[in-house]
Amino acid sequence: MSDLQFFGHIIDNEEVDSLGGERFDVWNPWTREVWAQAADGMAADADRAVASARRAFDEGPWPRLGRVERGKAIHRLADLMEARTDDLARMDSTNMAKPFEQAKHDVARSVWNFRFFADHQRDHCGETFPMDSGHHTYSEFGPAGVVAAISPWNFPLMMASWKIAPAIAWGNTCIIKPSEDTPASVTLLGRLAVEAGFPPGVLNVLNGHGAPAGSSLTGDDRVDRVTFTGSSSTGKLVMASAATHLAPVSLELGGKGANIVFEDADLDNAVYWAVEAIFRNAGQICLAGSRLFVHRSIAEEFLRRFVSAAEALTIGDPFDPATRFSSLASKRHFEKVVSYVESARLLGGTVLTGGVADDGSWIVRPTIVTDLPLDASPYCEEIFGPVCVVNVFDTEAEAVHLANDTRYGLNAMLFTENLSRAHRVASALRAGTVWVNCFFIRDLRTPFGGVGDSGVGREGGNFSREFFTEPKAVVMQIDRKG
Ligand code: NAD
Repeated sequence: MSDLQFFGHIIDNEEVDSLGGERFDVWNPWTREVWAQAADGMAADADRAVASARRAFDEGPWPRLGRVERGKAIHRLADLMEARTDDLARMDSTNMAKPFEQAKHDVARSVWNFRFFADHQRDHCGETFPMDSGHHTYSEFGPAGVVAAISPWNFPLMMASWKIAPAIAWGNTCIIKPSEDTPASVTLLGRLAVEAGFPPGVLNVLNGHGAPAGSSLTGDDRVDRVTFTGSSSTGKLVMASAATHLAPVSLELGGKGANIVFEDADLDNAVYWAVEAIFRNAGQICLAGSRLFVHRSIAEEFLRRFVSAAEALTIGDPFDPATRFSSLASKRHFEKVVSYVESARLLGGTVLTGGVADDGSWIVRPTIVTDLPLDASPYCEEIFGPVCVVNVFDTEAEAVHLANDTRYGLNAMLFTENLSRAHRVASALRAGTVWVNCFFIRDLRTPFGGVGDSGVGREGGNFSREFFTEPKAVVMQIDRKG
């Protein structure tokens, strides 16, 4: 008998195999071994998951629970997640070679996603406007229905929680389809929701591949909202599929973030964050600072320090507490990143440090490239790995132009000690989020999303409320006039 772990679908609060018994292997990219199997969802399994969520929405208690009771149930789930932090983190570390300490940090952020939206739906549930005509009018934010949520593999638990939390907090029922590369932590989350006493069908987990599992969800006309995080090319397919039944979509897609280091930057701070922005999570971050622009006057000194900090990162086993950087999440992804490093060399780039580890592992070492032409694919396209492309600039206007000259627009960073410049440049950058002298800090009340190929719509705080509810206006007559 196999001693591999098994991750089933969670449908109607039961953990089940696929109806036809289909399963797929789940890999550990650090050991390069299969460590688990997961149920491989087919169209019939997706149908079952949607039917469960539909029933739970149309007939079940969840949308009708008071806001306080719903909030309490979500906090119970957050408590269980907190208690199982190490188990959840172990799943992501095993499944995608995320350093364990970083995975624990992701669990804490996932817990906060649930706690934040549990409270937010209680405190921001309507607005009232007295009208001069003798009426008053108020808005009501009722749940939208069944939400299909599809998440990627780079922050398996955190990205899923970012979608599930607002969806269920606002009274919807939800089917989450995690990436086929990382089914483990989200399946454990589904088990914890059962333990927390969620009614059947409120949170279903459908494991499986983009097609047929994901595409069956997005194309199902019983689904009222589609929230997707993943690549821009898949985002287009998801949008087209949801359009067949006019379901609103929220798309959080790829990025090619600009990081601008001005001549007056605090260099220690700029180097610290430049390293975090491209080498954390082995660069597998949509928000990565993958195009770095540094002022010519400090370029030499900055690069010397940046290269030395990149080379100082401890590379190794994700479970070793000293490890800051490990292998890429899958063989397929490793091969993709390697091909970009090779084309950077072929297209005239100078690799200052990094490249393939060449030890049979799926590691690409922290890589810094200069001298690449601005139309080279490693400069223009999202690599989604630990590869930073560096260019110099002479003026503020040039820096802004270079940063904005991309199809993406998820995020940007800038480092300067000049307050006026900080505000001016932040305003001029075409991006959903701009960090000044920092990176990766989030306040869940603010909008999150991207411009252009980086996405459609925003989530966070009231932006999530707009997406996950059906806002309604009610007009009351107070005085009959005339
Ligand atoms: P991907 O697009 O390959 O897959 C994402 C998810 O979509 C997976 O669950 C996959 O199974 C599913 N999917 C694939 N084809 C589908 C289809 N036809 N219909 C429905 N679902 C389908 O992306 P990935 O490789 O898992 O993730 C990396 C990408 O995600 C990068 O581009 C990265 O920038 C992006 N990302 C964006 C954000 C953000 O917030 N903007 C956050 C994390 C990752």
